[in-house]
Amino acid sequence: MAVPASMVAPRVEVSLDKIEENARVVVEMCRRSGIGVAGVTKVTCGDPEVARAMLRGGVRWIADSRLANLTRMRKAGISCETLLLRAPMLGEADEAVTVADMSLISSVETARALGEAARARGVQHRVILMVDVGDLREGVPVDAALDVAGRMARVEGIRLHGIGTNVACYGGVMPTRENMSVLLRLRDRARRDLGIDLEVISGGNSSSIPLVRTGEVPHGINQLRIGESMLLGRDVTYRRPLPGMHLDAFVFAAQAIEVARKPSVPRGEIGQDAFGKVRTFRDKGIRWRAILACGRQDIDPEGLRPLESGIDVLGASSDHLILDVEDADREIRVGDEVRFTMSYGCLLAAMTSPYVHKVVTGR
Ligand SMILES: *Cc1c(COP(=O)(O)O)cnc(C)c1O
Repeated sequence: MAVPASMVAPRVEVSLDKIEENARVVVEMCRRSGIGVAGVTKVTCGDPEVARAMLRGGVRWIADSRLANLTRMRKAGISCETLLLRAPMLGEADEAVTVADMSLISSVETARALGEAARARGVQHRVILMVDVGDLREGVPVDAALDVAGRMARVEGIRLHGIGTNVACYGGVMPTRENMSVLLRLRDRARRDLGIDLEVISGGNSSSIPLVRTGEVPHGINQLRIGESMLLGRDVTYRRPLPGMHLDAFVFAAQAIEVARKPSVPRGEIGQDAFGKVRTFRDKGIRWRAILACGRQDIDPEGLRPLESGIDVLGASSDHLILDVEDADREIRVGDEVRFTMSYGCLLAAMTSPYVHKVVTGR
């Protein structure tokens, strides 16, 4: 018997209408501060329908860290201006200038490779120089930024179009008025000392949304690159829900393959689990447990939040997700589905897993 597409499991249900509405809220909030929004699609592997929903919601650019994703979107007819968020590898320069209008880069070598590729293709390509204001992922140190900007500006075939920064990714450094103002001072010095007009000042990612809400983003920051907040409706520093946003634009669903009463503490000598961790257990007696047909190859169990109360995620191995369903409001039986919202990391895993079906609803 064929299973209708809406019932295949495990699956991620994607609501394009909710993504569009979330995008509209973010875009409007940013517009009031003079900020244009780049919608970041990487967590969806560059899903063209998600990109279209973001564009309907008013984002000005589509941005992704992977060329394969930008290529996928171009092939599907996404024709807006695009940003490549991660510097291309040297051998990818040709693809980069073909599918992206702008690249965020931090090495002069990359600028040269892009310049050469753009000249060979006869296309325009712009670069945004990434500056590290403390988070220690990509970017040149602040005191080297002007020197690098000057060298990039002399590379033939590309245009140095702006500067940007990224925080709250590796080091967890929070965006502040102060660390964003560093970019504005660099912009001013580039104009004064080098005669370079940096048009785009790209202030950060979803972690900057709280500052946008309180009007604290310094005047002059004119671009933010937003993925998580728009897709999951949360402020990413404390993962609090953002007002007026949908938290369930993406829902994960999986099916129970075993439901049984079992003790809450394993029997036998305890060593490492399948992933090298030694776990501890609280004895809650004999409980109803359900096993869902999905696992770490598809999701991050810590990032799953059941949509119904009384269900706890106990853990997962590669292919089995174990739930405590003792206090669930309904009786869960083999064949029943349980649905969850997801953290960013969990969504990333689910969208990337070839075993998880993607079921898109809305326009
Ligand atoms: C992923 C990424 C973003 C978007 O981050 P979110 O937290 O999803 O908003 C922005 N900028 C860069 C450089 C990125 O790699």
